[in-house]
Amino acid sequence: MNAHASISFFFFSVSVSMSFTLGYIELPRPVFLAGNLGNGSISSRQQDFTGGVLYLNTGDRSLARNLGECADSSSACDGNETYYIEHLDGNAVAGVLQQIFVAEFTTLERVCQSCGDRNPCGAHRTYLGAGLVLRCPNCSDIALRASERDRPLVVELRGTWMLTVTD
Ligand SMILES: [Zn+2]
Repeated sequence: MNAHASISFFFFSVSVSMSFTLGYIELPRPVFLAGNLGNGSISSRQQDFTGGVLYLNTGDRSLARNLGECADSSSACDGNETYYIEHLDGNAVAGVLQQIFVAEFTTLERVCQSCGDRNPCGAHRTYLGAGLVLRCPNCSDIALRASERDRPLVVELRGTWMLTVTD
């Protein structure tokens, strides 16, 4: 910015010109929360995801993230980061699973293969991400996994011993 000031007295005048910077605008760096495995360099972990296994840029990969306390450090992080993963109940996925189950999915009673717990599917904990996962409300083992990626809906019931229509 340029500024000019001039003051005139009876027999003389003073004139001052100044140029100064108001500030700088810095655009935020791009954030890479996850990416390919890469070859170990930071830039290889910041490439566009090309499919396969998606690796989260956490722990010792967090330098590639460009976000968080480890991003500005030149040394490797200790890998200790805290995450909170929230879950929904089984009612959140009733619509998707209605494609497979003729009966109302949330009222189906599931017997857990790991702990023998009996609960309606609507009472199970649901995790949504790359597909959906239902976990036993008692022992947290996987009750059901479903994915629509690359093909029609696929449901796996590996952790479920029995499903019963109760009504
Ligand atoms: Zn269980």
